Amino acid sequence: MVRRAVANTDGLAMTTPRHILKTVFGYDSFRLNQESIIQNVLAGHDTLAVMPTGGGKSMCYQIPALLFPGLTIVVSPLISLMHDQIEQLQEAEINAVVLNSAIDSDTYRSNMSRVARGEVKMLYMAPETMLLPRILDFLSSVKVSCLTIDEAHCISEWGHEFRPEYRQLALARERFPEAVCIALTATATPQVRDDIRRILQFESTNEFISSFDRPNLHLEVCMRQDGLAQVLDVVERFSDGAGIVYCASRKQVEQLTGRLRAKGVSALAYHAGLDDDTRAKNQEAFRLDDVRVIVATVAFGMGINKPDVRFVVHYELPKNIESYYQQIGRAGRDGLDAYCLLLFSYADIAKIGFFIEQMSQTEQRQAAQHLQTLIRYCESAECRRGPLLAYFGETHQSDSCGYCDNCERKQLPEIDLTKAAQKFMSCVYRTGQRFGASHVADVLRGSKAQKVLDLNHDTLSTYGIGADTPKAEWLFVANMLLQYKLIVQNEHGGLVLTEEAIPVLKNEQRFRCRVSAIAQKSRSRTAAAKKSNSKKSAVDHTLHNPDLFEKLRTLRTALARKKRVPPYVIFSDKTLIAMANDVPKTDSALLDIPGVGEAKLKKYGPAFLEILKIE
Ligand code: ADP
Ligand code: ZN
Repeated sequence: MVRRAVANTDGLAMTTPRHILKTVFGYDSFRLNQESIIQNVLAGHDTLAVMPTGGGKSMCYQIPALLFPGLTIVVSPLISLMHDQIEQLQEAEINAVVLNSAIDSDTYRSNMSRVARGEVKMLYMAPETMLLPRILDFLSSVKVSCLTIDEAHCISEWGHEFRPEYRQLALARERFPEAVCIALTATATPQVRDDIRRILQFESTNEFISSFDRPNLHLEVCMRQDGLAQVLDVVERFSDGAGIVYCASRKQVEQLTGRLRAKGVSALAYHAGLDDDTRAKNQEAFRLDDVRVIVATVAFGMGINKPDVRFVVHYELPKNIESYYQQIGRAGRDGLDAYCLLLFSYADIAKIGFFIEQMSQTEQRQAAQHLQTLIRYCESAECRRGPLLAYFGETHQSDSCGYCDNCERKQLPEIDLTKAAQKFMSCVYRTGQRFGASHVADVLRGSKAQKVLDLNHDTLSTYGIGADTPKAEWLFVANMLLQYKLIVQNEHGGLVLTEEAIPVLKNEQRFRCRVSAIAQKSRSRTAAAKKSNSKKSAVDHTLHNPDLFEKLRTLRTALARKKRVPPYVIFSDKTLIAMANDVPKTDSALLDIPGVGEAKLKKYGPAFLEILKIE
């Protein structure tokens, strides 16, 4: 169906989507599909846009909203998401307002009258608000050009965030027969997509699906050995970047937050067991860069739009591939490199297996399938992108992405660990194939730990034969043996030899392995006693002038603190990198920097130029 509310270009001959992209948002070119989606909406066709997180969905309705003569209603499920969008739009001097329970009554009234006067381009609301009879009546008196349904998967019962009120939007639409509708989501499963189209009565020809590949995400899967140390490693590597650590339970969240804080990491917890105030406060602290790390359950994420999340660590196995992809998708929305580490343990799998046994039969089958898919993913030695994209019905163009642990490992030189492997595996055998790597390492090192003595493991032939090797190295050897499947973990975390171990133990075969960068790093972490400053700037590989970048960042932080907005709302990291690299010294040169539009030039140009001019 073609709606009549097509864009009004009378008197705005110069105003095209591209022009707005440049002058308002400061970008030179559209990303894939953005332009076609915008054109389709402007032509009055109801449109479904499916794009991964960070793909740039907002632009797809915000640019038409600025071109339409009337109001664009934006339905969004969460107050925090609306708030985030409004903040960014207002920074760009766009007339966007919100109606929800979080604003005071004066603001509410004033927002309503601004809408009534036709001053507002975008009105953000939760579906509950929009569906109130008095709001529907009010909106009927306004010229509505476009209805945007953000996070449209909430309409589908198949989705992971079904919201019954979303269902009623289909009916409410009838109140605005002239408004074109655009629905947006990052959920790619065909079932959910079909549901959205069916419920909103969209034609399938008006569906735009972008690739779900996120090439800037560096993917890695690693055995969880000393989990805390592994998380600390990541936190240290991204010394100035923000990150999320996902845990499976509230208890684990609390415990890990405490441990990280004890090590001096700026970290806060987030889970459904915290009261609303604490949760909102912690999320806001993360958004504002007041805290660097959020340790969270799956409850965290949907309400957050932070583009500069530099790492996502899964401390435990996620529920399934879909939620894993959604969670890692929260990293690197700004397109800059981001790191995603999944820590994997057979003990976790046993635990999940136990929970699955308690489920009903139908639930059981699905849960077991999800678990198997995840295990296959973790154990795979092939490029990580293949199976992830395949899950969404997409084929990765190449066998090797070059940006995951498995692809990188193939390019690494092999190291020979035969001697160490033999010692370690003999000790696994002698201790009865019941203990974890840490205990085996203690025995090898001749430790006088109570557990070793209580078990009489100081009488074994392998006791003390590895005393000259640091414990961290033994843990590294264990990790390599697990990765190459010479040993496996039983459901209690105890190490057990496999068939593959025998030829190495018998000295018939050597044990050679390729070591990923992070495994190599945790290997040398204790050995090198962190002598070298291995801190990596979160954004270093495109950045030529880190000192200038730091100065610009400091200015940005100061401005953001003063306004109580997140730093990324002022300028993104990408914009600051471009400034530091190009060193613009005039207004027009500054306008050439991606992310600098006219409004921001006026507001922040002078302050930034002051720094740039003395370079
Ligand atoms: P999504 O909602 O799909 O997760 P956003 O709309 O938040 O993604 O966009 C992610 C980031 O990409 C934002 O920082 C946005 O400013 C930026 N962006 C969007 N479109 C473009 C573009 N055409 N060129 C450069 N940056 C863009
Ligand atoms: Zn790969």
